Amino acid sequence: MSQQGYVAAPPYSQAQPGMGGYQGGYGPSGTTQPLYGHYGGPNQAYNAPPTAGMLKSPAVGLPPTPLSTQYSQNVQQNGTHLHRYPAPSAQSTYGQPAQSTYNSMPPQPQPTPQQITNQMSAMSIGNYGKKILIYTSFYNVQWTSSSDGPASTHGHTSVTYCQHAHDNSFNGRRTNVATAYDWCPSYGWCSPMGAPPMAGTPLMGAPPMAGAPPMGAPPMAGAPMAGPPMANMGRPFPGSPPPGVGGFQQAGPGTAGLQGFPQQPGQFGGPMAGPQPGMPGGFPSGPSQLSGPPQKKLDLDSIPSTIEVIENDRLRYEGQIYTTNIRGQVPPLVTSQFAVQDQGNASPRFMRCTTYALPCTADLAKQCQVPLAAIIKPLAILPKNETPLYVVNHGETGPIRCNRCKAYMCPYMQFIEGGRRFQCGFCNCVNEVPVFYFQHLDHMGRRVDFYERPELSLGSYEFVATLDYCKNNQPPNPPAFIFMIDVSYSNIKSGLVKIICNELKTLLEKLPKEEGSESSVIKVGFVTYNKVLHFYNVKSGLAQPQMMVVSDTAEMFVPLLDGFLVNYQDSKAVIYNLLDQIPDMFADTNESETVFAPVIQAGVEALKAAECSGKLFIFHSAIPTAEAPGKLKNRDDKKLINTDKEKTLFQPQKGVYEQLAKDCAANGCSVDLFLFPSQYVDLATMASVPSHTGGSVFKYNNFQMETDGDHFLRDLRKDVQKSIGFDAVMRVRTSTGFRATDFFGAVHMNNTTDVEMAAVDCDKAVTVEFKHDDTLAEESGAMMQCALLYTTLSGQRRLRIHNLSLNCSSQLSELYKSCETDALLNFFAKSAYRAILNQPLKNVREILVNQTAHILACYRKNCASPSPPSQLVLPDAMKVFPVYMNSLMKTAPLVTSTELPTDDRAHQRLSVMGMSVEETQLLLYPRLIPLHNMDPGSDALPAPVRCSEERLSDAGMFLLENGHSMFLWLGQASPPDVIQGIFDLPSLAHLQPNMTALPELDSPLSKKVRSIVADLLEKRTNSMKLHVVRQKDKPEILFRQFLVEDKGLYGGASYMDFLCHVYREVRQLLT
Ligand SMILES: [Zn+2]
Repeated sequence: MSQQGYVAAPPYSQAQPGMGGYQGGYGPSGTTQPLYGHYGGPNQAYNAPPTAGMLKSPAVGLPPTPLSTQYSQNVQQNGTHLHRYPAPSAQSTYGQPAQSTYNSMPPQPQPTPQQITNQMSAMSIGNYGKKILIYTSFYNVQWTSSSDGPASTHGHTSVTYCQHAHDNSFNGRRTNVATAYDWCPSYGWCSPMGAPPMAGTPLMGAPPMAGAPPMGAPPMAGAPMAGPPMANMGRPFPGSPPPGVGGFQQAGPGTAGLQGFPQQPGQFGGPMAGPQPGMPGGFPSGPSQLSGPPQKKLDLDSIPSTIEVIENDRLRYEGQIYTTNIRGQVPPLVTSQFAVQDQGNASPRFMRCTTYALPCTADLAKQCQVPLAAIIKPLAILPKNETPLYVVNHGETGPIRCNRCKAYMCPYMQFIEGGRRFQCGFCNCVNEVPVFYFQHLDHMGRRVDFYERPELSLGSYEFVATLDYCKNNQPPNPPAFIFMIDVSYSNIKSGLVKIICNELKTLLEKLPKEEGSESSVIKVGFVTYNKVLHFYNVKSGLAQPQMMVVSDTAEMFVPLLDGFLVNYQDSKAVIYNLLDQIPDMFADTNESETVFAPVIQAGVEALKAAECSGKLFIFHSAIPTAEAPGKLKNRDDKKLINTDKEKTLFQPQKGVYEQLAKDCAANGCSVDLFLFPSQYVDLATMASVPSHTGGSVFKYNNFQMETDGDHFLRDLRKDVQKSIGFDAVMRVRTSTGFRATDFFGAVHMNNTTDVEMAAVDCDKAVTVEFKHDDTLAEESGAMMQCALLYTTLSGQRRLRIHNLSLNCSSQLSELYKSCETDALLNFFAKSAYRAILNQPLKNVREILVNQTAHILACYRKNCASPSPPSQLVLPDAMKVFPVYMNSLMKTAPLVTSTELPTDDRAHQRLSVMGMSVEETQLLLYPRLIPLHNMDPGSDALPAPVRCSEERLSDAGMFLLENGHSMFLWLGQASPPDVIQGIFDLPSLAHLQPNMTALPELDSPLSKKVRSIVADLLEKRTNSMKLHVVRQKDKPEILFRQFLVEDKGLYGGASYMDFLCHVYREVRQLLT
């Protein structure tokens, strides 16, 4: 570090035009003496324009250069250089002709806003999980202590099932419409029936047994489980049965057979004698005096399997091309591999919906309670085999829009009057076609340049934005990344500062850049801090970097403009020098206090001063206790758990951070926070800026270099290199009759319609809820258009447009048929996680259970073929809806357990808000992959199995991952050759505890396992820490919490119990 940097440095102030106010020099690091004043207010500070070289005008109106592409001169492929416009082409070579199904939109009456509210009765699913003292984290699980051996904590549900139904009714598991699962009031679950049975089909062999619940107790009674699932569900059991529905409720000697329960004597050794005492509701109570058939454990295979649903969808779509030319088409699942060809609707990679057939009326929507929502990942990365988005440039005119609703030109605009006008597909307004845009129509009424213009024929494309879309009507400057490193004692001691600095040397070579461009234009800047902030001048040409200390954290400012944000390649030598010196400079620090809000403030001020948007990467250790704005104190209070005040644990502290979030959002300053806490840090508050600015929070509890270093560095690399847009505003427009009413994401809402994101990366998704404000017409369907205005990596202002058309139906069966469970769960997760800010957790869980039951009851009532009331009928598209809902209710934010660290719960809550459907799917149903039977020579990944203890085996080896945690589980009877092959150890007993990496051995098995692990790490949004766990070892409990079909470790029912509960609720609702 140059001496100059540490001492009074008039050159800095002199060198900066518009920078007055230095009272003195720059003091040494750590000084508390106010060395210089502040520049005056944020607005006065820097009036000088940024370096001229930073400016890059968007190329508008440049002459076209011929290129071999199908699109016209105004079109370029994303990533190609702007100057190289494709040549005009008369040929319509783009894809297949799209079916134009979305043209006519009859005028709609004025909307009548209607509210759809969920009114639900009180009920909740119980918590009866055994308490286990463990310390867990969403991203980072660590063992601390345990009061219980893992094995003892996992009672398995033994549910009995009805044998007699099998002989004549089991026709296979899948149907096109619905799957029916039988519940025998006395015996439990039957295997799924094939097609929905006709009324009167003898499904159940025998009526409920009189006074003799045959199998000890069926699952509802709670007896087989460690805790009764029904006991806490808010409904007295078994005393208050649902009032008389069919024969089920009125089960008695005379009525048992009335509703499809004909007696089939013989199958259980004889007809039952009579009604069960106290069991009018069909559920046996109390201990049984079983005299019937032998007990039989319910086979997990008899209830709907996520694995099977995923596998069937995979087989159906694998290797296929999914074309988007059909309105209301339900896409393949997120878990399937498929290629997409855009033919007029946005790819499901960008937009997914909870249902692709909206109910025509608000009443229908209210009746079924299926949420209407879209999950939009606007900058999703497309695989290499798919066409990148085309960029349309209309020059100074800018994109063509509807005069009334401002929707952008898209396939839903209908050209009329010989092409002179177009009718908006969203608001029906008739607009003049600008002269330059005029084109004749063909005999089908379609413009003859239909296939040459992406905005006429595609679901997704981009427009080059004009200056009207830029801040202050100026083209944006290239964005900046500012790395802000906490150099307090713990970060120095753990070696963290050193590895960050080392890593940045290579990482900065790989800054993201626009596809096709040679190098990244992103500027970089560096700050270190503890109680004071140190800024660095790394201007190219300097022999040494220079440090400037700001100790007045109350009114943060940036002490230098020129030389703070630089081009990495230009300043590489100085930056290397700096990164080499930082760890040494603070090596002897004993400063343990830090500031935090002033760090973010400094970052946003720096971006403001440079007039650019950008991202802060903050590497922080502990709760900020130093005297400064945003100082926090420990407000964690386990006594609040399970009280009405529990919500306060999730609520951020208002004031400084709230204002900071607004300031960042307004100035295009996104914040990514890497936290390395050893105790509570008030994450809810510390993460409030990232969670409103499109940022992410990464957390490494008790960071240790050996076990967490690689994990952290993988996260950092992914995060810095990922494709990202800056200073973004998103607007979702809809056709008449419905509109976007609510938004969930790492976003800031300044008003009710504009979704502001200081930055949005390729993994961030926004979930948008829709409500009716009028009747929708079946003929015209429902359209939506998402427009994202953002600054590209190269500093160009663009509009990315995604269009999607849905069906509308007055038949609820259409809606159910078109549901997407994974999308529904994304919505439910985000809305529940938001709700816990304002409501007791218990209420939120109750609502989730109620809504699950309502959705299924409504289906049963309105859509399913007549079937015995004893059946639980699940729509085919929602077959595994209950397992996901149950899993959601067992996630850390929604369980009431004092064992879970508050910060971890807050972390998961906030992380989920920005997640896409892919991520929530994996989070709620982790992959459990058996590795013991695989062929090391094969490239294929072994098929996953159900997330249940029942699928484990003593001699087995399983890999489990949910996108945030990864485990290699080894059964206690693992064959020595497997252990030898993977660990080079003679037996499992030799395995070290807390292993987080696999040794690099030459054995085929080792190579195969490591390649599977590496592939998954590569594929997922976040890196994952690998935990190697042995069966029956204490840390195994961390693994078991992800077996989501089993009973929750911190409360929450097993899948089987939950299904039983939902079944009861459905029956209740149908009465
Ligand atoms: Zn319009």
